[in-house]
Amino acid sequence: MPGFPKLEPAYDLVIIGGGHAGLHAGLKAALLEYRAVVLSRGPKYGRSYYAPRMDNIPGFPDGVSGHALLDLQIRALGRWGERVGYITPARVLAARRDAGGFEVDLEWLARRHTVRSKALLLAMGVVDRMPVVGGSIEPIFPWANFAIVDFCVLCDGHDLPGRSVGVLGDDVFAARVALDLLHFRPSSLELLTNGRPFLEETDAGTRAALLAELEKAKIPVHTGEIAGFDGIREKRWTVRFADGTERSYDRGFSGLGWYSMNSEIPRSLGARFDSEGYVAIDADSRVLSSESGTPIPGLYCIGDLASGWNQIPEAWATAERAVIHAYAEYL
Ligand SMILES: Cc1cc2nc3c(=O)[nH]c(=O)nc-3n(C[C@H](O)[C@H](O)[C@H](O)COP(=O)(O)OP(=O)(O)OC[C@H]3O[C@@H](n4cnc5c(N)ncnc54)[C@H](O)[C@@H]3O)c2cc1C
Repeated sequence: MPGFPKLEPAYDLVIIGGGHAGLHAGLKAALLEYRAVVLSRGPKYGRSYYAPRMDNIPGFPDGVSGHALLDLQIRALGRWGERVGYITPARVLAARRDAGGFEVDLEWLARRHTVRSKALLLAMGVVDRMPVVGGSIEPIFPWANFAIVDFCVLCDGHDLPGRSVGVLGDDVFAARVALDLLHFRPSSLELLTNGRPFLEETDAGTRAALLAELEKAKIPVHTGEIAGFDGIREKRWTVRFADGTERSYDRGFSGLGWYSMNSEIPRSLGARFDSEGYVAIDADSRVLSSESGTPIPGLYCIGDLASGWNQIPEAWATAERAVIHAYAEYL
């Protein structure tokens, strides 16, 4: 079938994950005349897919949506289909290192396959945790899709000046998100724990310090269980509580952290992790060994999965560094 991607048994580079980082790594590999493959579950599993407008992407003065940008990156990669395969929807199950490089097992078209490579790039990203309301994560989706509820301080904080904001979460991360958002001068900030006790698993010293900071900043904590959301037509985030009360905000913000940090494959390859659970890398995006702290030969980690700032320009920069380093060293 013309144009249908073909999986080869071996490549110079295998890239796991086809978000902004992995797609850019594939493009760079093509431009450097290597044979590579991007193995991806597909764009709709990428973090930015539901971001309606991103304002920090160079070349887009009026902003660009996450899925439009992914489409453009997929199109750019498609021009080099002779050199770099884009295999989707595919799920990588495992990866191993041996004397010759790497071996990667994946599932594609309902079959298991194994491919080999000289160098391996991990670009699986992380997965945001969603609030569970009535036993389901779906109630939040409309508000998330319209960016009335946001997930990234660095991406969307600039949208908050003068607005009332409700922050979801019950732990230290949520408290810090709320305090960080003060920088963007919201008209008011509140924390919503959705029925969970606040800072329950936090040591007494940290708890006392955070409570004092929140009080000083006039950030109240509401612990009521959430029963549902309203206000989409008015572009508001109205939170209905199980006790029949409600609170309404201009914007919601997630302080829930990550549902998954996709740690399994990097851990199986001997990666070191930083204190927040991201893969530790050096300035060339090389993965550091959990045992020695030195780079694991031929193994790179790029984008959100790597220690860094979870931003698309950074995903691209880490991809550039990894592929250029691999080009100079292994390919
Ligand atoms: C609501 C929201 C708004 C945002 N707004 C901005 C913004 O305005 N500006 C900005 O710079 N950043 C923004 N971000 C952050 C941005 O989305 C991420 O920094 C970026 O997506 C990271 O790219 P990535 O390639 O590392 O990961 P992702 O884009 O998440 O891609 C990872 C890919 O790997 C795939 N994958 C994972 N595991 C496997 C596996 N085992 N096998 C095969 N494939 C796998 C996933 O399915 C996914 O497609 C936003 C994020 C969110 C959630």
